[in-house]
Order: sequence, then C-alpha cells, then structure tokens
Amino acid sequence: MERNDIFDRLLRLETSVNQLAQEATELKSLVVEMVETNVALQLENDNLKKVLGNEDVQNDEHYSQDIATQQQTKKVKKPLPSKDNLAILYGEGFHICKGELFGKHRHGEDCLFCLNVLSD
Ligand SMILES: [Zn+2]
Repeated sequence: MERNDIFDRLLRLETSVNQLAQEATELKSLVVEMVETNVALQLENDNLKKVLGNEDVQNDEHYSQDIATQQQTKKVKKPLPSKDNLAILYGEGFHICKGELFGKHRHGEDCLFCLNVLSD
C-alpha cells in the first residue's frame, strides 16, 4: 500500500470521526430539547387533568366504591401531591419556576425562583 493511500484513508477516517462527533453533539441537544418539551407537556397535562378533576387515580389506597359514588367523587378533586411532583422534577434538573424557564433544563444550576416555589 502506498504511503499516500494510508494518509488519504487516515484523513477520511478523521473526517468521519469529526462528523460523528458533530452528529452526537447535535443529537444530544435534540434529546435535551425533547426532554424539556416532554416535561413541559407532562406538567401541562397534569394541570389540565387537575382542572378537569379527571386524573387517573393511581395510589396505594384502595377505595371500594360503586359506580355512582365513583362518578360523584370524580368531581371532588383529590389533593394532588403536586409539590412533591415539582420537587421531583426539580431534583431531576428542571426548572419549575413560573415563566419562560418553566420545564427547561437547569444544566446543574440552582434556581432561587424554583426553590421559592418549593418553599411556598
Ligand atoms: Zn427556575
């Protein structure tokens, strides 16, 4: 094999590696965006369910009720552990403060507004 050949192949390999690294970076930021969107939608969804008083009740306590009382209790809003959910989200690294940052990734930085929400 010619020395030039090897050098060519090495150059092409280097280009490919750089392209892959670039793609990985792009994909990483896409994933962060998607997770942010997902969290925002999840929160919105939770809030809407809360407003509709229609959320799936998935808790450990089991209530045996007939259908009539179930329909009645649908209107009675169950207290959601929403602050717990927010605390979990914050713990997972997302903003829970109101405004533009809501649902965005904190990138490891503490946010006083978020902490304020939790301490309310
Ligand atoms: Zn925040």
